[in-house]
Amino acid sequence: MRRISIFGATGSVGANGVDLIRRAGGPDAYRTVALTGGRNIARLAAMARDLRAEIAVTAHDELLDDLRTALAGSDVQAAAGAQALREAASRPADWVLSAIVGSAGLMPGLVALSQGGVLALANKESLVCAGPLIRRAAVQGGATILPVDSEHSAIFQALGSEPLDAVKDVTITASGGAFRDWPLERLAAATVAQASTHPNWAMGQRITIDSASMFNKAMEVIETKEFFGLRQDQIAVLIHPESIVHAMVNHVDGGSIAHLGAPDMRHAIGYALNWPDRAPLPVAPLDLARIGSLTFRAPDETRWPALRLAREVMAAGGMAGAVFNAAKEQALDDFIAGRIGFTQMAPRVEQTLEALSGRDGFARAPEDLQTVLDWDAAARQEAAA
Ligand code: NAD
Ligand code: MG
Repeated sequence: MRRISIFGATGSVGANGVDLIRRAGGPDAYRTVALTGGRNIARLAAMARDLRAEIAVTAHDELLDDLRTALAGSDVQAAAGAQALREAASRPADWVLSAIVGSAGLMPGLVALSQGGVLALANKESLVCAGPLIRRAAVQGGATILPVDSEHSAIFQALGSEPLDAVKDVTITASGGAFRDWPLERLAAATVAQASTHPNWAMGQRITIDSASMFNKAMEVIETKEFFGLRQDQIAVLIHPESIVHAMVNHVDGGSIAHLGAPDMRHAIGYALNWPDRAPLPVAPLDLARIGSLTFRAPDETRWPALRLAREVMAAGGMAGAVFNAAKEQALDDFIAGRIGFTQMAPRVEQTLEALSGRDGFARAPEDLQTVLDWDAAARQEAAA
């Protein structure tokens, strides 16, 4: 029986992962090693009981007693805090879903990679902050990283076994998020509630707001570069309001292979779960006759400065990705808390990159986790409102 762990099981991606495991037979089909979550103890405990996990971990030390109480009478071990997350990630598993949001997902992913097996990576922040570290950990641990972000799963599937020199470039699509069609002058007054709705995808609040600001796509461009080893001039973004084509691989001979599907994360998660095979998944079949037309347009960088910043981050290399991500996380916290407006997030990220780019070590690629965490903390401090 394959052993699985899910980091961030109680979130949007994590719960979809749990759902797929449950539909496949739950404890009769997979041995669940670890499930982790945050403050939603009831949900974490219910999932852990259901899948008969070895251990359930909450990220919050002060919630350990609540978790113990919620798991009373079961065989599931309860644990809490960063050290417990690390310990859970070091337990051997054949398939680990990395679905914590933010740079907090970096450590468990790195530890899991050192155990070998497959790391199904939804946590794009890992590759944005520390691409070289993640790739090195995979090689050293003999682990395989599979993409779970839908665009990257799409590229991975469209590439097949084709060598990279057959690829001219790749295109990832973006729905355009909540404010795609808003007049520019209204954006400054956009509220958190307005930014927290997505036209096509049901996702966690942070990535939904990042979709409205296009920071999500900016992160995904960097993620594409780090995951596939492409040059930055080989990665393009196309606005595609229907979210049916997720990405295209454009070949040197003028042909393109696109990946299509309903906007449902269970496809990308399930693809990574069943890889290298395919198995039926609870995803609605594509009904193109009903959808009728698919539309595309170039992104407007006045509306979405995050896309320009992504190119600057890739050109800078070194710690720029970690600073970019942490400044974005801080600006997002400040927007959600009402301390800054929607259109103040990108300038804050840009100012933080400018302020930290002169510091010693900025241009050096990260060599260990602590270096990344130090730059992450410095960037949050610099970006804070
Ligand atoms: P979410 O907010 O719904 O869930 C996040 C999970 O991480 C929860 O289990 C939460 O308890 C846990 N968590 C949050 N902060 C933590 C911390 N500091 N330490 C430990 N655990 C913590 O997020 P989501 O939308 O499921 O996204 C998860 C990741 O997947 C993100 O990196 C996101 O960019 C990526 N992703 C999500 C989607 C999607 O459809 N939601 C699609 C592609 C990629
Ligand atoms: Mg995506």
